[in-house]
Amino acid sequence: VLSTMQDVPLLISRILAHGSTIHGTSQVTSWTGEAEPHRRSFAEVGDRAAQLAHALRDDLGVVGDERVATLMWNNAEHVEAYFAIPSMGAILHTLNLRLPAEQLAWIVNHAADRVVIANGSLLPLLAPLLPHLKPIEHVVVAGPGDRSLLADASVQVHEYEDLIAGKPTTYDWPELDERQAAAMCYTSGTTGDPKGVVYSHRSIYLHSMQVNMTQSMGLTDQDTSLVVVPQFHVNAWGLPHATFMTGVNMLMPDRFLQPAPLAEMIEREKPTHAAAVPTIWQGLLAELNANPRDVSTLGQVTIGGSACPPSLMKAFDDLGMRVCHAWGMTETSPLGTVARPPAHAVGTEEEFAYRLTQGRFPASVEARLTGPGGERIPWDGESAGELEVRGPWIAGAYYNGPDSEPLRPADKFSEDGWLKTGDVGTISADGFLTLTDRAKDVIKSGGEWISSVDLENALMSHPDVAEAAVVAVPDDKWGERPLATVVLKEGASADFETLRAFLAEEGKIAKWQLPERWTVIAAVPKTSVGKFDKKVLRRQYAEGGLD
Ligand code: ADP
Repeated sequence: VLSTMQDVPLLISRILAHGSTIHGTSQVTSWTGEAEPHRRSFAEVGDRAAQLAHALRDDLGVVGDERVATLMWNNAEHVEAYFAIPSMGAILHTLNLRLPAEQLAWIVNHAADRVVIANGSLLPLLAPLLPHLKPIEHVVVAGPGDRSLLADASVQVHEYEDLIAGKPTTYDWPELDERQAAAMCYTSGTTGDPKGVVYSHRSIYLHSMQVNMTQSMGLTDQDTSLVVVPQFHVNAWGLPHATFMTGVNMLMPDRFLQPAPLAEMIEREKPTHAAAVPTIWQGLLAELNANPRDVSTLGQVTIGGSACPPSLMKAFDDLGMRVCHAWGMTETSPLGTVARPPAHAVGTEEEFAYRLTQGRFPASVEARLTGPGGERIPWDGESAGELEVRGPWIAGAYYNGPDSEPLRPADKFSEDGWLKTGDVGTISADGFLTLTDRAKDVIKSGGEWISSVDLENALMSHPDVAEAAVVAVPDDKWGERPLATVVLKEGASADFETLRAFLAEEGKIAKWQLPERWTVIAAVPKTSVGKFDKKVLRRQYAEGGLD
């Protein structure tokens, strides 16, 4: 028996229509580095998204499910592109501006992007790359920047504002199939070529609803979210879509992602929520210690992308900024788990431990742990295995061109279609995930596993340590042993003996896990999305650069 319910496709154009009318007065505020930020209402964003869609279709000839790329910071124009491109039926392809040039070129060619919308401030990056971006015919430039850099380019160059000026502020958005591609994002390619993840209208719609649930971010139109996580990194964790559903104001940092302007933004614009990877918050913390500011409005900070060190969570709590830890990946849209402690733990000593886990799975994300021999690992909070997930916003394959079968590599997808995350951890009986490591970062010492994350967290809780990254290095006797690379705080002088003793203290780290190789470094190398780049550390060690 079929239901008697209406069959209304879950489309991004519906999120846009809702946000720009019902929440038309909510604001996107973009930082400009000048005296005043730029403010645009959701209603204006809606009008301009329609204008952009007209321009893309009528002037640039975008048809069907063509890919339209963006090379942009977080700002109002990028939000307009987020809604215009998928709503008209095309595919939004966000380019990670921190990727090495060859990877960017590979990605643009693979996705066959014919149009790119770029921020003027990124033309120094784009201009030299253009000759290698074969399919690109049109560059649309938005925001300040030196246009003369494109003077010799053999593409058509358009001004964003000129292009949309005078176009109708409404658009008859097509009634698409909700399973159609809406947006794509390539993983940073830590191993092998980058892989394209293609989100559907339906997956984005459902994911946005989950982001808005109280047990996820739970924001309302009384909130302002400081969206630090880049729009080119897994759709800024779904915030631009989710906020248009609920009218949450967005504060967009554009290119001003350094600790000082972020601190100023928080003091002046008083966001109530913010989202970013731990690295950003470590920087902000150091800035606030050096130059205190009133950040008291920022009640909730979502941290994900890599494990939140306990020391960071404590320090933020002390400043009144309550951390909410979450786990996800490009393939999971990204919301996979959120660490809201269960009712029985709230207000007890257990609460902090729950908040430090990666979090609990929402109803739409199914999880299982798999052992090395393919066996199911129980949810007992102790036995570790590789995490596999499935659900309506979890990737089931990678993009392989418009006319080819999608890719399902066996190391990424199980035979029965679950995503293999490459993350190793435990799940408790009540569904809390604790990641011990990435499969490729775990240190395999004499048949036992040492968690690099545990060592890093313990090190970073020492007052002299600013950052610490631990990697496996080859060892004749044990196979692998941990190498601790440590960044000391300015003026700090702790030596290895002190740090070793600190780790051993109170059984923080088991004796056999204590690193015997140590080195002080100036900074931990970071990936394109601000995570510790352990590949680089391992390479530096192999080349003798870390002794
Ligand atoms: P990349 O491979 O470039 O890092 P993603 O941004 O998709 O790509 O990263 C996803 C990975 O980041 C996860 O598989 C996991 O290893 C790590 N990660 C994300 N959130 C957390 C977290 N809260 N704690 C620990 N690791 C995390």
